[in-house]
Amino acid sequence: MASIKRVLSTPDGDHFYVREGEKDCHTQYGVAKDVLKAKDGSKVVSNTGKEFFVFSPFYADIYKKIKRGAQIIPLKDIGLIVAETGIGKESVIVDAGAGSGALSCFLAHIAKEVVTYEIREDFMEIVKKNISFLGLKNIMIKHKNIYEGIDEKNVDVVTLDVPEPWKAIDSAADALKAGGFLVAYCPTIPQTADFVNAIHDNTRFTHIKTVEVIEREWEVAGRKVRPKSTSIGHSGILSFCRKLQ
Ligand code: SAH
Repeated sequence: MASIKRVLSTPDGDHFYVREGEKDCHTQYGVAKDVLKAKDGSKVVSNTGKEFFVFSPFYADIYKKIKRGAQIIPLKDIGLIVAETGIGKESVIVDAGAGSGALSCFLAHIAKEVVTYEIREDFMEIVKKNISFLGLKNIMIKHKNIYEGIDEKNVDVVTLDVPEPWKAIDSAADALKAGGFLVAYCPTIPQTADFVNAIHDNTRFTHIKTVEVIEREWEVAGRKVRPKSTSIGHSGILSFCRKLQ
């Protein structure tokens, strides 16, 4: 997986990465020497006296370093998609649009197979780089408009992050197995309304729920416990539906 060999983190959560071929870790807190030899979970000290913990990278560490072109789906929303649909090692997923591949690459790490559709070739290049950076083998990217149909059949979950998700409802119905989930991620309320109302008018789906995930990070230092001012603001609204018959 990727070329990152070590992750150094400060007690307050700053992360630094050591790539293949590097020995030392250069940070704004000075240089930590010879970190490839340090044991996982051990402490190293930079030449300015700053302490770091050293780890071999987990998927979550490498994932943070993926390239971004299109606006990505944040982790808080990915978490709910996974939890609501129960995506796991048997799941086959179709996703569109690939964008930066943030959602599809996260899902590929836990699912059996992901196929992601994208219409823009420049974004496809970014996604291909991210797939190879993450070392994923079970994800395929297709240069295709999802509104014009989905080639795959018997799919467990379809995720849509496209401007007009209602145009992909019939494609998703043909692709999904009965009971399969259709999830639409919309940045705005009019898109959400158009999507969910189209689902209400469609006999092949039932709407389960539409939710917004609000994440508020807290600062905890002694008795100074209060919300951080840098919490993520609005990202998108998630609508969950299930395929009938
Ligand atoms: N979920 C992605 C971000 C998607 S951004 C991530 O987490 O990284 C929306 C993407 O959808 C853009 O890249 C855009 O080019 C693509 N797109 C728009 N309409 C599409 C369509 N009809 N079929 C496939 N991709 C589409």
